[in-house]
Order: sequence, then C-alpha cells, then structure tokens
Amino acid sequence: MTAPARARTSDDLIRAEEPVLAHNYHPLPVVVARAEGSWVEDVEGRRYLDMLAGYSALNFGHRHPALIEAAHRQLDLLTLTSRAFHNDRLAEFAERLAALTGLDMVLPMNTGAEAVESGIKLARKWAYDVKGVPADRATIVVAADNFHGRTTTIVSFSTDETARAGFGPFTPGFTIVPYNDLAALEAAVDDTTAAVLIEPIQGEAGVIVPDDGYLAGVRELTRRTGCLFIADEIQSGLGRTGRTLAVEHEAVEPDVLLLGKALGGGIVPVSAVVARREVMGVLHPGEHGSTFGGNPLAAAVGTAVIELLETGDFQRHAAELGVVLRDGLTELVGKGVLGFRSRGLWAGVDIDPAIGTGREISERLMHEGILVKDTHGSTIRLAPPLTITGDELVSALGTLERALR
Ligand SMILES: *Cc1c(COP(=O)(O)O)cnc(C)c1O
Repeated sequence: MTAPARARTSDDLIRAEEPVLAHNYHPLPVVVARAEGSWVEDVEGRRYLDMLAGYSALNFGHRHPALIEAAHRQLDLLTLTSRAFHNDRLAEFAERLAALTGLDMVLPMNTGAEAVESGIKLARKWAYDVKGVPADRATIVVAADNFHGRTTTIVSFSTDETARAGFGPFTPGFTIVPYNDLAALEAAVDDTTAAVLIEPIQGEAGVIVPDDGYLAGVRELTRRTGCLFIADEIQSGLGRTGRTLAVEHEAVEPDVLLLGKALGGGIVPVSAVVARREVMGVLHPGEHGSTFGGNPLAAAVGTAVIELLETGDFQRHAAELGVVLRDGLTELVGKGVLGFRSRGLWAGVDIDPAIGTGREISERLMHEGILVKDTHGSTIRLAPPLTITGDELVSALGTLERALR
C-alpha cells in the first residue's frame, strides 16, 4: 500500500465509501473532519452550525471541555474491566444518575437499542416474577410510529415498513396502539400486560408532542391496571426539552426510564435503564449483562454529563432559547412552513412539499452552512446543541427563512 499522494477531498472520501461501506444510510454530502461546540468543519475547512447534534447525542456540543477532560483523565487510569470485577467509577455514576432521575437503581448498557432491549427483558421478568403473568404470555403495549432502535426485537414492533421489511420473523409479544390515544391504550392493556413502552415525545416520527395530559394519563392508567410505565427518553431526555426529562413537563415519574445518546457526551456510547428498586430487583447474576456496559471510561464520561445537568444551566438555556425557536418558527408558518411542533430546543418542521422534500431543504441549508436532517417526507428536525447561543439560533432561523423562499 502506498500513501495517498495528496490529502483526499470531501468528494474523494464520499466516493471512496461507496464500494466498501454498507449502504444503510444516505448521508448529506458533507465530510466532517473536526468540531468544537455547536460548529463542525469539513475537510475543506468550511464551517457549519450543527443543528442536528448527533440526533441529540451531542446535547452539550462537540468536545465539551469538561467532558473531554473527564475522558482524558480516565484514559490515563483505567478504561475497561468488564463487570467480572468492580471498577472505581461505577458507584458514583449510578448514585448520581439515580439522584438526577429520582429513581433508585441503574443498569448500565452502551447503545440506546440495548437499553430498550434491556427494558423489555426487565419488564417481562417483572411480569412473571411479581405480577404473576403465565410463562411466555407477557405483552408490552407500544405506540404506532415509534422509534426505539434497530435490533430484530425492536423492529418487530415498528410500524415503519422500511425498518421492518425483509427482517422477519419477528419477536411476538407486542401490541401496537395509536400514539396520544388514552382510550386505545386502555383497551389494549390486560392481565398479560407487563408494560406500556412509549417515547414521551416521538423523535424520529417528527418530534410529535402528545396532548397535555397524555403522559399523566399513561401514568394513571399503568398504575391503576398494574403494569409498568417505561419511558424511552433516549432522545427526549437530558436537557433537550428544557427539563432534565421530558416526562417532567407533566410531573410524571415512570417506573422504568431509558437513557442513551447524550449520556455519552458525544464521546462514547453510554446508555442506561433506570428503575424503581422493586422492578430492577428482579434481575439476578447471570440473567443479563454486557461486556462494555458500565466500563470505567463510560462511567467517567457519564458522570461528567450528569454533573453538567446537575447545575440546571443547560435545561434553563434550552427552555429560554426554546421560546426563541418557537417564536421564530411561528413567524415562518405560511412562508414555506405548513406547521411545526416544538418543545425546548427541539422541533419538527413540516415544509410545504411544493418547496421541496425534507432532503432537498436539508441540502439547501447545508450549502448555507447549517446541518439538519429530514425525518419523514417533508419534515425536518431541528435539534441544535444546547450550547447554541441566541444569536446563532436567530441567524439559523434567518437562513431557514431564506432557504424556504
Ligand atoms: C436513537 C434512539 C434509540 C436507539 O438508540 P441507538 O443508540 O441508536 O441504538 C432508541 N430510542 C429512541 C427514542 C431514540 O431516539
């Protein structure tokens, strides 16, 4: 192998991926080489405001100094033990995550999908051991248009045909009801129901915010009927909506909370199932695990993330700028925007299809120095890092307005 004669351009690198990289994504044609805070820079040195923030994995921006420092410090001490042994970082991570979320016990995993899988296993075990559901009969009620990840069990209860088709046979034991419909949920819950699993705000579906009272209704219904409420806050959690958790907007506490994405500070994959003690207590040694889950590097970065959230500053900033975002988008309704939904620094914006698809608008914004990603059809999602300034946000909204003309 000879070294390339010259540095490869963005176009070279995009072409180079084609024959060697699985085609399971269709990225925007931008090749990012470095980043800091809310900004990324491509191979040619062009700068872009990152309004996607790694699907909310980068809530604290790129390379937040406190998170990078925590990672560096831990890299010099210890990176992996496996759970065969204890490591000196895990107790503090679990203590502080439990305190932050108001729950009792933590099951550390790595990716979001693993947290969801773990939550499903936990709920089933609880159903058999505590609720007394007959063996192999437990069901979990989920919402249509959900996104909980990509494993075979999780796509088994997806309603997105692109995510499912060709991947069967599927895992049984799931009942799908419309989102934001308490009557449908009530009708679906029975003696075999282990849990109701929902996103408090549906992210991939286009930032679908349920009606006021829905989350409180799910809480009341699950408590009354004796099943668990599992909140998947992998995308909605950790400051994004202006609160630590999206369920806080209705002062609701789930039995089981799923976290991921931003928990790893944009550095390492860190996810967790956080639950009440009576629920998590059904797991015993050997029944579940992960080689990398709870590794000291992940625990150190995760603890530093929790420390940032403990101040409340990011949540406050997201709530304050959330008003700027909402007001700015309200101005655009009728000017290329058909409608939008937002909470905190998170919005799903439906673009008039006459102007372009979500993809076309995303490419137009990319050429104007703003990175976003379409979700479905003509909907784009805005989810900037919570480090974005008011001026940057106002400027981005101005760019969006021009792109829609
Ligand atoms: C991203 C996401 C997941 C899956 O997380 P991965 O880390 O990609 O496996 C699960 N649930 C929700 C709500 C998500 O947004």
